[in-house]
Order: sequence, then structure tokens, then C-alpha cells
Amino acid sequence: MSRDFMKIERIGHVYRSAGERVRDFKEVEVPLTEKQLHEQSARCMGCGIPFCHGTGCPLGNLIPDFNEAVHQGDWRQAWELLSATSSFPELTSRVCPALCEGSCTEGLNLEPVMIRQIEKAIVEHAFANGWIKPSAPEKRSDRKVIIVGAGPAGLAAAVLLNKAGHHVTVYEKNHFPGGLLRYGIPDFKLDKAVVERRIRILEESGIRFVLDTEVGRDVSAEYLRGRCDALLISCGTPVPRDLNIPGRELENIHFALEFLQGQNRANSGESSTVPVSAKGKRVLVIGGGDTGSDCVGTANRQGARSVTQIEIMPRPPETRSPSTPWPFWPYQLRTSSSHEEGCVRRWELQSKNFSGENGQVRGVEVVPVRWTLSPFGRPQKFEELSGKTETIEADLVLLALGFLKLDRKAMLERLHLNDAPNVFLAGDTATGPSLVVRAIVDGRKAAARIDRYLSN
Ligand SMILES: Cc1cc2nc3c(=O)[nH]c(=O)nc-3n(C[C@H](O)[C@H](O)[C@H](O)COP(=O)(O)OP(=O)(O)OC[C@H]3O[C@@H](n4cnc5c(N)ncnc54)[C@H](O)[C@@H]3O)c2cc1C
Repeated sequence: MSRDFMKIERIGHVYRSAGERVRDFKEVEVPLTEKQLHEQSARCMGCGIPFCHGTGCPLGNLIPDFNEAVHQGDWRQAWELLSATSSFPELTSRVCPALCEGSCTEGLNLEPVMIRQIEKAIVEHAFANGWIKPSAPEKRSDRKVIIVGAGPAGLAAAVLLNKAGHHVTVYEKNHFPGGLLRYGIPDFKLDKAVVERRIRILEESGIRFVLDTEVGRDVSAEYLRGRCDALLISCGTPVPRDLNIPGRELENIHFALEFLQGQNRANSGESSTVPVSAKGKRVLVIGGGDTGSDCVGTANRQGARSVTQIEIMPRPPETRSPSTPWPFWPYQLRTSSSHEEGCVRRWELQSKNFSGENGQVRGVEVVPVRWTLSPFGRPQKFEELSGKTETIEADLVLLALGFLKLDRKAMLERLHLNDAPNVFLAGDTATGPSLVVRAIVDGRKAAARIDRYLSN
């Protein structure tokens, strides 16, 4: 067992300086150098029972093995190991919260291994060396699969079904494939050239894309079902959670995704302006999660006058809460690169009503709440501390309150697909709003189900 973890510390900061990065939409993270990778991979203890692989990573990535290969400088071997389980490591290594690191044994007493950055280095080595190439199957079956939705779930399923020899066509309502990778996640976390590079490989491997085509509007799902042997619906969870309090009808209150999508479209040249701009405005983001943090980063890049993010839940503890002991994903305070760039964060505030002038929002009246915690420190219920209301001034309010779980039955009825034997679901459509890595896993599982169905 290596004892390097006792001598080498995890690198604390991997971003460009805040002053520099806030002026552009390029990725904020700086890749590790070869020397840093050699050292950081040595921090892996090569545990007999690697929880990072078994409990943490939904893909079951062979983490201690690829860490060791990187430490030995054997990049080819590291790539073989990573690609054995992972569909798009260049994507997960940029956007995954790194569930694996939450269950890294070193996290018990020290800081976990930098698994995500090591994964990124491996896949970028593989691209640089030409090891990732289009690969069409040698033999095609006579089976056709149609996939609705080109997000990570649909794309992961497409790869495996194509590899199995089936004819795969992906329908996508947007102009570019990628789903929320393309239109939700900001460029400063994931450069869209990285998504495009992968899509080109899929196209050259024989997967067909039909873009700018909304199934259920431009073409009926029933029609498509009749033209294939299996239909996979992986169209995400499109309905954002609203905040229906008095004043909701005022101008300049927008859903987070509308704001983020507008900026991504402008960055790619798909549109010439942003439909919702934070420039010169006092921005209030309601919702303390990752989508809210993406709004903070985007608002600062657009030149907001000030940015405040509020959350109804209490401020999480600085370190792992006893309610989520190792190897569970830790409930603890997370400060993103966007928060570092400038933002006031406040917790335990309930929004009561929007106030405005001439039809424009001017503020939100909030009331503090007090939470009752479980014996392990987990918030359970809250009461409002009435009489302590205050108004937070804002000219732009962004609602980042998550997405509603799709009503699958209603969706299938709307598409006239109820009880059809050859219809499958994957990704957020099947599981509810989740993570890119989980959508990929679910797409892979759906591909296996479809392949079994087609083989029978
Ligand atoms: C703003 C934001 C930031 C996020 N950041 C992260 C992050 O950093 N890390 C992370 O792990 N997760 C993140 N997530 C969650 C993650 O993006 C999703 O869990 C994941 O993309 C779900 O994949 P999916 O393939 O199921 O659906 P989606 O990515 O939503 O893709 C569904 C696709 O289906 C298409 N579609 C829908 N209806 C139709 C139709 N009728 N016809 C044709 N096409 C259709 C859509 O246009 C879309 O392209 C974020 C989510 C949001 C909203």
C-alpha cells in the first residue's frame, strides 16, 4: 500500500483566477500538469474494497486501477480501463459532482483523491493520441431503433445500440444534439466544442441525427413507432418548478434554464442576443443548488450590478454532516467557482411575494425560517419567524427551484404510446431530474434492455 497520501496533499484550487475567468465563458478549470498527475494519482491507496468504484461511481469506473496506471505513466492502459465502463468520460470529468470522491477512503481523515481531474487527463490523452476513433459495427442487424432526445441518456444508449449493429436514428427538437449538456450547463463548466467532438464521432460511427424536429409536434411518436423495432424516449424533464406567490406576473422574473439557455445559444452563435440579460441589474437567484450557482456565474459574466442567491434550507455544515457518514455522498456546504466570483449567499429565507413598479419586478419580500433538525443534523421541518420580513431588492429574479418529475403516464398518453411493447424510457424522463452520470448509466441500461428485446 502506498503511503504517499500521508505526504502529498490534494491540490486545493484548480481554477483560473476569478478576475480573469469572469471576463469570458471559457472553461474555468486548469488541467493538472503531468507532474501533478503523477503525484495526485499516488495519493490513491489502492484499497482492497474500493468504495469509489463500488459505492460512489454509478458507472462502476475502475478507479484505483486507472489511478495506478496514471501514476506509472501508462496512459494507454489507463484509457483501456476508463473506457471499459465509461461512455463519455470527457463529459463526466467536467460536470460530474464526483460521487466517487465522496466515498474515497481517504476522505475519512484527509481530502479525497482528485479522481475527476485524473479522469479528464486520461480521456484528453486518449483524444490527443488518436485512441478515440469512430467505429461502425462490422455487421449490421436488420433492426431499427429510434431514440427521442439527444441528451446524455439518449446518446449513451445510441452508442451501445449502434455497436450492437442496430440502425440508430436520434430525433432532437433542438438545433444541436447534447440536451442539457448543450443548452443548460454553462460553457464555463463544459466547452461545447467538447460535446461537438463527441457528436462527430457518433455520426461517423453510423448514428443518424434528425435535428430541429420535435416528436409529438413535427412528427408523431406513433408514426415513428411504426417505422422502427424499438422506440426509446429520453427527452428529459422539461417542466421547471415555479414559485406561485403574489407578483409572479411581474416582468423580469424568469426560469433559470431560460436564462442559461439564452447565454449558451448566444455563445454558439445560434442567436445574436441573449433574451434575458443581467447586465447592470441587481440579480436575485432563488434556489441554492447547482443550477442556481450556474446562474450566479452567468450573471456575473454578463455584468450584473450585484448577485444574491437565497435558499429556504439551512446553511449546510462546513464538513460532512453525521447524517451522511462515509461512504455516502456528504451533505455539506459546497462553494462553486461561480460563488467565488462574487455573490451574496443567504439561507433560511422563505419568499413571500414579489413587489414591483410599472409592471417590473423590484424586489422580493422574504421571511426568515427556523428549521428543526434531526438528531443527526438533517433539516426536518421549519417555521416562519413572522414579524421579521424584509425586502431584497432585485431587477432580475431567476427561479432555480429544480424540475418536476415527468408524469410518465400522461406523457405516454399524449404521445399515444400507452401499452406499446416496443417503447422504452431512459434518463431524467424515467428517473426524474438527476445527474449526467446517472442519465448515462440509465441510457446504457435501456440499450441493454432494447438489445435483449430485439434479440428475442
Ligand atoms: C442548468 C442545469 C445544469 C446542470 N448541471 C449539471 C452538472 O453540472 N452536472 C450534472 O451531472 N448534472 C447537471 N444537470 C443535470 C443533467 O444535465 C441532467 O440530469 C441530464 O442532462 C439528463 O439527461 P437526459 O438525457 O435524461 O435529458 P436531457 O439532457 O434533458 O436531454 C433531453 C433531450 O431531449 C430533447 N427533447 C425533449 N422533448 C423532445 C421531443 N418531443 N422531440 C425531440 N426531442 C426532444 C431535448 O431537447 C433534449 O435535448 C444540470 C441540469 C440543469 C438544468
